[in-house]
Amino acid sequence: MSALVLDGRAVAAAVKGEVAAAVSVLERPPGLATVLVGDDPASAAYVRGKRRDAAEVGIASIHRELGADASQAQVEAVVAGLSGDDSVDGILVQLPLPGGLDAEAVVERIDPAKDADGLHPLNLGRLVLGRPGLRPCTPTGIVRMLDHHNIAVSGKRAVVVGRSFLVGRPLALMLSEKGADATVSIGHSRTKDLAALTREADIVVSAAGRPGLITADHVRPGATVVDVGANRGPHGLVGDVAFDSVKPVAGAITPVPGGVGPMTRAMLLVNTLRAAQARRGR
Ligand code: NAD
Repeated sequence: MSALVLDGRAVAAAVKGEVAAAVSVLERPPGLATVLVGDDPASAAYVRGKRRDAAEVGIASIHRELGADASQAQVEAVVAGLSGDDSVDGILVQLPLPGGLDAEAVVERIDPAKDADGLHPLNLGRLVLGRPGLRPCTPTGIVRMLDHHNIAVSGKRAVVVGRSFLVGRPLALMLSEKGADATVSIGHSRTKDLAALTREADIVVSAAGRPGLITADHVRPGATVVDVGANRGPHGLVGDVAFDSVKPVAGAITPVPGGVGPMTRAMLLVNTLRAAQARRGR
């Protein structure tokens, strides 16, 4: 048996098509503001990619760049300005911020109604409460990809490896909430015998940032394996999953690159569209 490879680029293209169609009927295009602080080349490349994606679907982009020596007050003032700017529907602050800056305080200056990354405490709190709100892009992208491929979640055992506020925790909430109805465990750096835990799962999601963490020994035959890892090293971009050894065991698997990454980017556009629609009373 060899796993079905879940093509994130194809699903993301379908999602982008839907966003473009919805944008085309709005009186004025949604506006996505990107905030880049410092000179980290990877962050700059991510922001360029997100602005390109926005242009492709007809979302206008507004870009603010600050130097690595920008103060906390300067960064917060830029974000507060965008929050108050009516032409801006979504705001994305590219993380991580340069050392010395308090990213949480910056994110709290985003108007929660414009929180394109879904990381404002109000939106994360709504997620905990099971109430509607803007949700983090990577977990929503994963849920969307499973749904697209008709991979059943309800009543299944899911193990999420990683407990960050960006991926692991919100994903565990989304998979276990009413309507999704998986039974979810979270593995993390202090979990004893991770392989025994993940072998119980119908769906394994790895968001640890550790290349090669998930091997064939971690996967029950036929399970779905979602690789969130985006680790840059001598071999380019690699995930957390030892793809070649896991693929013959799994039932479905996401590749890196071309799996979760494109879905994350697509969901940013979905969030920006939803924010624009909500702000315009649609
Ligand atoms: P993080 O460093 O904040 O969290 C990593 C988590 O993994 C922690 O909770 C930690 O307990 C757990 N962990 C670390 N080592 C472990 C081990 N040996 N066994 C079990 N658990 C372990 O990272 P993050 O921001 O959640 O990102 C995780 C990975 O996902 C990174 O590689 C990141 O680049 C990637 N990422 C990819 C996308 C995408 O769109 N593809 C989006 C966000 C993050």
